Amino acid sequence: MMNDPAADLPFFYGSISRSEAEDYLKLAGMSDGLFLLRQCLRSLGGYVLSLVWNLQFHHYSVEKQMNGTYCVSGGKPHCGPAELCEYYSKDADGLVTTLRKPCLRPADTPVRAGVFDSLRDNMLREYVRQTWNLEGEAMEQAIISQAPQLEKLIATTAHEKMPWFHGKIERQEGERRLYSGAQPDGKFLVRERKESGTFALSIMYGKTVYHYQILHDKSGKYSMPEGTKFDTVWQLVEYLKMKPDGLLTVLREACVNPNCNTAATPVVPSGRRPRTNGYTPPPEAPLGACKALEGLPGDRRALPMDTSVYESPYSDPEALKEKKLFLKRDQLMIDEVELGSGNFGCVKKGVYKMRKKHIDVAIKVLKSENEKAVKDEMMKEAEIMHQLDNPYIVRMIGLCEAENLMLVMEMAASGPLNKFLSSKKDQISVENVVELMHQVSLGMRYLEENNFVHRDLAARNVLLVNQHYAKISDFGLSKALGADDNYYKARTAGKWPLKWYAPECINFHKFSSKSDVWSYGITMWEAFSYGGKPYKKMKGPEVTGFIESGKRMDCPAGCPDVMYTVMMDCWTYKHEDRPDFAKVEDRMRSYHYSISKKTPKEDNTEDASANATVAI
Ligand code: ADP
Ligand code: MG
Repeated sequence: MMNDPAADLPFFYGSISRSEAEDYLKLAGMSDGLFLLRQCLRSLGGYVLSLVWNLQFHHYSVEKQMNGTYCVSGGKPHCGPAELCEYYSKDADGLVTTLRKPCLRPADTPVRAGVFDSLRDNMLREYVRQTWNLEGEAMEQAIISQAPQLEKLIATTAHEKMPWFHGKIERQEGERRLYSGAQPDGKFLVRERKESGTFALSIMYGKTVYHYQILHDKSGKYSMPEGTKFDTVWQLVEYLKMKPDGLLTVLREACVNPNCNTAATPVVPSGRRPRTNGYTPPPEAPLGACKALEGLPGDRRALPMDTSVYESPYSDPEALKEKKLFLKRDQLMIDEVELGSGNFGCVKKGVYKMRKKHIDVAIKVLKSENEKAVKDEMMKEAEIMHQLDNPYIVRMIGLCEAENLMLVMEMAASGPLNKFLSSKKDQISVENVVELMHQVSLGMRYLEENNFVHRDLAARNVLLVNQHYAKISDFGLSKALGADDNYYKARTAGKWPLKWYAPECINFHKFSSKSDVWSYGITMWEAFSYGGKPYKKMKGPEVTGFIESGKRMDCPAGCPDVMYTVMMDCWTYKHEDRPDFAKVEDRMRSYHYSISKKTPKEDNTEDASANATVAI
């Protein structure tokens, strides 16, 4: 998952030691300016640049700064390891020489994974499992869509889940706990000191308990006095298990907090943790199983997983037992509030009463005077939705046949993306738009993988649960493809959203995931222009001429170049050459991660409590 930003550099070796680095350089001839890059064990996210000059080795540590930039101590900041190396290949700027010749990693030698790489991965998983009680696909999607946010959260709170963390206890109480039971050297615990946010390490050595203060410097890093600095307390602990770093002994056995059933003991899935509604941020950040600490430092913004619509209401096995396609009318309460309307009728707000909980729903109500064809269309829409289950797609709860035919869906209270963005132009950051469009690409990737074509992807059909959570909706034109087909052929052209359609849709009535990719590009354009209308005042047929002549829409003002490049690629004329959603999602993901890590500031509409831009 979270790839190292240096992973693709041919002279990057990963987590190799200093002497191994020197061996590679020797093997490659020791010419002046020969260099390689390796992972730094101490500062997470940092590197070491190993360089030859005058038959001698020079090792420069490259630190990752709080703002996400990289620099050689005392040197200029650079936005990534590649940029940094490029810079020093032109200007020595304090190094013994410029970087002249990359010492290439042999083809049969993979980048060596670091100790923390797998740990970080497991931590993320464990954290998501504990905090939101998610498993499987739901967990994967949570991690993919929220990795930067989760990393920040974990960086500041992960130690709370560790068995060795005892919360706010007195020094004497720490001693008492360490002295109880066996007293091997290296038995340890970490406790929070009276001043919140500062920690102490208590260790057993020679049957005596010693206390060390864990230093917390201005840049937010943790260390032992004079020791190596780390972004998180748990990384420091992991490191101290390997190296004493000035302590009397390395850390060995954790003195387990009696009040904490933690990562070591997986939680039994005993019913789902209740979640807050989509649009109200949780009063308190959801906690893991550790009871020792209540409340996270500051409140944070709601993640998709905090809302009630992240998972299907039927993900609860008991609710699933009672699931039926047709819902009972007396379990459905319909509000007078209209959420939207169309030629089929209108969409109303409502509440569906399930056995354990009541859920907010949106109800598509078919006007009774509609002819049978419209009813059939709605049944087809329901049939498609019935087969889909993804956090970034509006789920159908069921159908209800009563005074009217009704399609009952999850509620996405903040409404269509285009309206939301045009009404909140100055409050929504570009990073926020990227995050939402990445979520849309995740939902579309899911459709592509499952052989569904949407055929009406547009900003008006992307609904928001809240400012940071988008779902794809409106499956009125969607089709499930046959096992052997990769496109759907429409027999007749209907009322089509021509401005969103790829050339092959218009010319040959051929619809595929690739034509959805084209529509995704238009949707992106709408989003980055904050709800602008594509192709201005042009009429549908004019647009066709415009596209055929090789023209494309301009980059919306303020839209990042990388995002415009993705859009332009979505508008590749030939569908064979157009990227698929797997590719588009990858690109959206990388860009989303890269900017979320770089910008510690949150959108100005919210608090910026998740202030640690820590690489873990
Ligand atoms: P149409 O086929 O007419 O475009 P849609 O499914 O797009 O129908 O719904 C029309 C409008 O109803 C949407 O633009 C939106 O405002 C509202 N709406 C639809 N589904 C939901 C939902 N699940 N949650 C909230 N609002 C919804
Ligand atoms: Mg619609």
